[in-house]
Amino acid sequence: HGLKGVDTLKITVIGAGYVGLVSGVCFAELGHEVTCIDNVEQKIKQLNQGEVPIYELGLQPLIADNMEKGTLAFSTELASSVKQADVVIIAVGTPSLPNGQANLSYIEQAAKEIGMALSGYTVIVTKSTVPVGTNEKVRAIIAQHTDEEFDVASVPEFLREGTAVMDTMNPDRIIIGTDSQRAEERLIELHHSLTSNIIVTDIRSAEMIKYASNAFLATKISFINEIANICEKVGADVTQVAHGMGYDKRIGSSFLKAGIGYGGSCFPKDTQALIQIAGQMDYDFKLLKSVVEVNREQRLNIIHKLESLLEGLKGRTIAVWGLAFKPETDDVREAPAFEIIAALRERGAFVKAYDPIAAPNFEAQYGSDGIAYCEDAREAAWQADALCILTEWGEFQQVSPSEIQEWLKSPYLIDGRNVYDQDQLAGTQLVYYSVGRPGMN
Ligand code: NAD
Repeated sequence: HGLKGVDTLKITVIGAGYVGLVSGVCFAELGHEVTCIDNVEQKIKQLNQGEVPIYELGLQPLIADNMEKGTLAFSTELASSVKQADVVIIAVGTPSLPNGQANLSYIEQAAKEIGMALSGYTVIVTKSTVPVGTNEKVRAIIAQHTDEEFDVASVPEFLREGTAVMDTMNPDRIIIGTDSQRAEERLIELHHSLTSNIIVTDIRSAEMIKYASNAFLATKISFINEIANICEKVGADVTQVAHGMGYDKRIGSSFLKAGIGYGGSCFPKDTQALIQIAGQMDYDFKLLKSVVEVNREQRLNIIHKLESLLEGLKGRTIAVWGLAFKPETDDVREAPAFEIIAALRERGAFVKAYDPIAAPNFEAQYGSDGIAYCEDAREAAWQADALCILTEWGEFQQVSPSEIQEWLKSPYLIDGRNVYDQDQLAGTQLVYYSVGRPGMN
């Protein structure tokens, strides 16, 4: 056993979710022999039948191609695949525990199973986002179960849902955190065709780079949201402010879009986890705590605006466009829509919701009490007392504000994502509130 050929590596990916499935498929596309393992049988069955359990642009054809070529397989059998592998990639979930710490039970379980199956020198890569020190824990767990040679490495993942395949094929950088020369060489070989920005660090720094990056991006979002709140008070327009700021290379224009705050499976959990990591070392991460607090309050601004416009929400019908935490994904984990819809329901409103893709996932988690899931944007808006836009899906921009005015019972449009240019509203009677921009009518 050992490295089988210089160019083709045998790779086992554990966890066929957003990260594991996409990176497995992309490594297969690069010519490696990949097996994606998941312990949810239904998921593997679906994948083997050619169905893709998540919505991700460009993923389906890549899966079909590589299955046909024989470079990609799906299985629930971890042990037989790990035995053959040159590289094992852990991509299982690390969700929040109630106290905000990362739940490492899936990682620990995977490490144990890897240890029991290992055969011949293997590099074990953790791609899941894990607290500093976790890779060393993974090493210790594996070592308890095997005498075979192996090394661990932290290779955090930075893909964005919605553009996951593109991001994986064209990453800004690859971080390889390891203390082994042998593992470093093998992982450089695996990644060198993707980017020239390969940064090798120690294991703990690699683990920290992931949390620090997400915390920084979350900070940018909360920062611009607070600027937006001040803009509303002083009569400035946050989109113009952000545009003007973004030209400064030290600031950059991305992640300066004001709105109802961040959601998703990463920022909320990773900010909480980093606050906990710091706290365990008796460090009070004040800045990041405020970022989280600002984000929580930002979601509810939309409710305050609605309440003041409609003079109470009891008995009102509110249309909601967008349930996914961002466009181009069916992922609803930590989507602002949950809290906003719950707040509407608490105040006695009835909700008509539409999302191009994410409604089934949302319904599976939220249920259907007091909420009707609609077939299209028009049906949701039809005869509603107000419309709230919670996700900036491209198709919403295609609807003209005058159509919205026709569909609604009363002319209230609350745009939580600044989807419309205010010029587009001119000539309508819509009362338009967005985030950090002067209100209209
Ligand atoms: P996910 O929930 O979509 O996928 C995890 C998968 O692992 C699930 O399918 C689950 O069934 C499987 N699994 C769990 N334990 C297993 C085991 N013992 N054996 C086999 N399969 C097992 O999660 P995700 O969104 O892909 O995230 C995975 C990790 O990557 C997390 O740590 C996350 O923070 C990180 N990450 C996610 C993203 C993202 O955009 N989703 C981006 C960067 C990093």
